[in-house]
Amino acid sequence: MKSQLLLPAAGSGKRLGRNLPKALVEVAGKPLLVWTLGRFAPLDLVDGAVIVVPRPHQGRFAEVLGEAFPGGRFELTPGGPVRRDSVANGLGALDSDTEVVVIHDAARPFVSPLSVRACIEAAAECGAATVALPCVDTILEGDRDGWLAATPDRGKLWACQTPQSFRVGVIRTAHERAALDAGSAAEVTDDATLVRQMGERVKLVMGTRFNFKVTTPQDLELAEACLDTPGMGVV
Ligand code: C5P
Repeated sequence: MKSQLLLPAAGSGKRLGRNLPKALVEVAGKPLLVWTLGRFAPLDLVDGAVIVVPRPHQGRFAEVLGEAFPGGRFELTPGGPVRRDSVANGLGALDSDTEVVVIHDAARPFVSPLSVRACIEAAAECGAATVALPCVDTILEGDRDGWLAATPDRGKLWACQTPQSFRVGVIRTAHERAALDAGSAAEVTDDATLVRQMGERVKLVMGTRFNFKVTTPQDLELAEACLDTPGMGVV
């Protein structure tokens, strides 16, 4: 079954406080995007990647990728104002014979090849799957004024990660419906939830704690320390 990687990398990185797209920020000597893509390079499961990039920086992304992965098969496509728009653009750039798409945040450089494989297999079988991690922390819901409002049952909670994998028809339909729905889909920040909102089942695949998303300056420090430690996060 032909699968392709779709990497949304069009975030601004505002929360990182850098004047550079997050995917191009250097961590331990290489841009974040290069670390993340490197995780997929040894996987024979993925046949080419669509990388969604901020339009004004498309040339720089092409240079960085060409230097890091000479001869690599990458299709660059411009992103949109929010992640959902970027993914929708990326879906339009997949090869016409791709059956499974693996959507992975460029900002998660510690993804485990084992969970990528498990996620692709689950999507091929069930139509949709996401890597996620059972919550170890108690999660508190706060109100707008910073007071504790509710404490959901931790036993049922999973922290959403990527990759999320889908049969291409399933995720395209989910995005088409979301585009027509100004209500419940508007706040959705991942693709598996769009699929669930249209009534389809999504398999949860076990992730790892290493697979955190680099979002804040503290995450960047943590990523730097991990990448400087040979073998760290490789499970
Ligand atoms: O903003 P957040 O950290 O949740 O973004 C997750 C991933 O989605 C990142 O890899 C980011 O580059 C990407 N993204 C995107 N287009 C946007 C916003 C985020 O491709 N407009």
